[in-house]
Amino acid sequence: MSFASETKTELCKTIPQNSCCQKAECYGLLLFGRSFSNHAITITTENSAAAHRTAQLTAEIAGAIVDVSTSLLRRKERKSAFTVAVNGEDERNKVLSFFGHTGSEISLRINRANIENDCCASAFLRGVFLSCGTVTDPTKDYHLEFVVPFMNLAKDLSAFISEIFELNLRVGVLNRKGSFVVYIKGSEGVADLLTYMGAGNAAMELMQAKMLKEVRNNVNRKTNFETANIDKTAQAAAEQGIAIEKILNTTGISALPEDLQELAMLRFRNPEMSLRELGQTLSEPLSRSGINHRLQRIVEFSKEL
Ligand SMILES: [Zn+2]
Repeated sequence: MSFASETKTELCKTIPQNSCCQKAECYGLLLFGRSFSNHAITITTENSAAAHRTAQLTAEIAGAIVDVSTSLLRRKERKSAFTVAVNGEDERNKVLSFFGHTGSEISLRINRANIENDCCASAFLRGVFLSCGTVTDPTKDYHLEFVVPFMNLAKDLSAFISEIFELNLRVGVLNRKGSFVVYIKGSEGVADLLTYMGAGNAAMELMQAKMLKEVRNNVNRKTNFETANIDKTAQAAAEQGIAIEKILNTTGISALPEDLQELAMLRFRNPEMSLRELGQTLSEPLSRSGINHRLQRIVEFSKEL
C-alpha cells in the first residue's frame, strides 16, 4: 500500500463524535469530488475506505441514496477505482440544498456555513483530503496536495488552510493539466497538516523518515570527510616520495642526518604505508607524530637542495 493510501485508511478510522463535524467532513468529501452539481454528484477514489466513508456519511447525514461502483483502473497492477454517486435529480437536489448549494452555481465556492464550529475545520479538511488529496512517500519528498477541478474552489481551500495555520504553513496553488493544485511542502508543514486531519501515525512515519535521512546524510558527510583525509595522506606520501627521490639523485641518502636515513629509505620503498606502520617498522620504533615530524624534516631538506 502506498503512503497516501495508508494515510487515507488511517484517516477513515477517525470517526467524528459531533454531528456538526460529521456534516463538515461529508461536505468536504462531496464538494471536492469529481462533480457537485444538479447533473452529477460523484467522487472517484482508489481507496476503498474513503469510498465507503463517503457513501456512509452521505446516506446518514444528507439522507440520500448513494451508489458505489467499482471499475478496474489498471489491469496490470490490479488497481480498482471506486465511484460513489448520488443518482437521480431529486436525490441530488436533496444533498445540494442540505449543504446550502443550488447546484447551478457558475463558480463553486466553499460554503462556510457547513463548517459551523471550531471543531469542524479538521473534519472538513479530512473530507477534502480523502476526496482529492494525496501525499508523497516521505522517503522521496515532503509534499501534500489537493487536486481541485475549479479555480475559485482551489483558492478558497488555500485561504482556508492558511487561516488555520496562519504563517506556519506555506500553501501554494498551481495549475496542472487543467486542474488546480493546492500544495504544502516541507516536512514540518506536511506533518502538521496530517496531524491536524487526524493522521498522527502518518505524521510520525514522516518525521521518522526525515530523521533517518538526516542520520544517513551525516554518515555520508563523515565518509566524504574521511575520503578527503585519505586523499590528503596519499598526497603527502607522494610529496615525500618525490623529495626523497630528489635527495637520492643529487646528494645521495648519506647527506641526510643519520636519524632520518632509515625512515627516508623505508618511505621511498613503501609509499602506501601509514605513519603508524612506518613507525612500527623502524628498527627503533617511533610514534606517529615522531614519524610525521621527521618526514617533514626530510621534505624541507630536499627543498634546500
Ligand atoms: Zn464540529
